[in-house]
Amino acid sequence: MGRVEYNKVSSDDLKALASIAGASDVSTEDYDLVTNSSDAFPGEPTLPEAVVWPESSSEVLKILTYASKRRIPVTVRGGGTGLTGACTPRYGGIVLNMMKMNKILDIRQLDMQVDVEPGLIYDQLNKELEPYSLFFPPDPASGKSCTIGGMISNNASGLKAVRYGATRDYVLALRVVFPAGLDLRFGARVFKYSIGYDLARMLVGSEGTLGVITEATLRLRPLPRNRRTVAAYFDSIEDGVRCIGRIRLSGLEPAAIEFLDRTHLRLISDWSGLSLPDRECMIILEFHSYSRAGLEEELSDALELLREGGSVELVVPRSEREAERIWEARRGAYPSILKACRSPIIGDIIVPLSRLLDGVMKAYELARKYEVRVGVMGHLGDGNIHANWLTDRRNRDEWERALRANADLTRYAIEVGGALSAEHGVGVEKKEFMRDQHGEVVDLMMRLKEFFDPNNILNPGIML
Ligand SMILES: Cc1cc2nc3c(=O)[nH]c(=O)nc-3n(C[C@H](O)[C@H](O)[C@H](O)COP(=O)(O)OP(=O)(O)OC[C@H]3O[C@@H](n4cnc5c(N)ncnc54)[C@H](O)[C@@H]3O)c2cc1C
Repeated sequence: MGRVEYNKVSSDDLKALASIAGASDVSTEDYDLVTNSSDAFPGEPTLPEAVVWPESSSEVLKILTYASKRRIPVTVRGGGTGLTGACTPRYGGIVLNMMKMNKILDIRQLDMQVDVEPGLIYDQLNKELEPYSLFFPPDPASGKSCTIGGMISNNASGLKAVRYGATRDYVLALRVVFPAGLDLRFGARVFKYSIGYDLARMLVGSEGTLGVITEATLRLRPLPRNRRTVAAYFDSIEDGVRCIGRIRLSGLEPAAIEFLDRTHLRLISDWSGLSLPDRECMIILEFHSYSRAGLEEELSDALELLREGGSVELVVPRSEREAERIWEARRGAYPSILKACRSPIIGDIIVPLSRLLDGVMKAYELARKYEVRVGVMGHLGDGNIHANWLTDRRNRDEWERALRANADLTRYAIEVGGALSAEHGVGVEKKEFMRDQHGEVVDLMMRLKEFFDPNNILNPGIML
């Protein structure tokens, strides 16, 4: 894709945007420019020249068509919780903030489906679904602030992916607007179909580089009636990680298998005042079941496996409230890191399960090599390791070393047959590894982009 010279947003452009979206949905106020200049990635923010809040697909179509003709870059933004700089307006231009397109359009209980606009917040959707005894499972730890559009664009997942899968597994149909002047619907509102190229799935994980998602049909799951949680502590990382492999092979089907090492346990304790045991690592398991008896049996088998696997301390909450405290601790991992250091680099790789222990140990080895602090946690049940580098951008030398450590770990994941990201995406952070991951397929991706976005105005500089 050739380099494109972009135009600045002029006063005529602002008038044109206001005539499309309404003057109150277009801003050039400093406050709006600054709060739309980056996501949660600690890279350099870049100010846009204008922020626009569209309220319908037809507005999005008009804005993209206009911006494409005028060659003004457009960066799409959901909740701005991304961790890779994927909604940083690197070339200025317009930020298309999707937060006003946040309606639930239709809940079809018998079909177990919901139609939503992309700016809807994840937790809000599940709150609205509760009376229907349904839920949308991916459960990212950022669920209080991230949007469905952002989740689809990053193929977000989270605590329950080991059993329920990632966002991709729930996207049935999408409405997408492209800068080439197209407003198209992909997919079908059924659980399986055989109807040609699966272009809806192609949009999942596209990080806003191809088109703007303006509606989504998601499949839902019945809310689990019963759940049990257990926290198991270990005095050795090897024991803890190996135990996860045993649980996966045992035929037990936990809804969550989470891992936190001592660094994280200490940070969370300091931050939350929960005083978690000072052990080498912790595994949290959660089981869901329709039947209470089945659930107790699964839990008891799991406890046996954990004991045999070397767990030195088991905590089995007796009430929902106690269980929730464990999950609160887990959800506190990121804020507790932020409290401990100014600009952590949140790692996100995935490796085949056979390389899980190797992958975790590799993170510690790299921390020693580059003399940086690391804490390892993650959704280890599906091979997803978050090696979090505790650093501060103001210490340039340390920051560079942490970046190198994270880069080496990313290359390692690709080399062993894993992936550069499991759920956070590529953004600007991991763009340089796309060829290591995909080889010449990157060229095909660029041609697809050229077709849907011929003037390269949408999220330029992101992912590709
Ligand atoms: C504390 C914390 C915890 C987190 N935990 C998790 C976790 O457990 N699992 C996980 O997967 N992620 C996690 N994340 C990362 C992030 O929250 C997710 O990737 C989330 O899906 C991003 O959603 P968002 O609405 O904030 O998207 P944004 O950050 O606004 O955007 C993300 C990408 O989506 C694109 N985009 C947004 N809306 C649209 C649209 N309508 N059409 C086309 N493109 C669009 C943007 O251009 C960008 O490329 C975490 C982040 C934080 C800060």
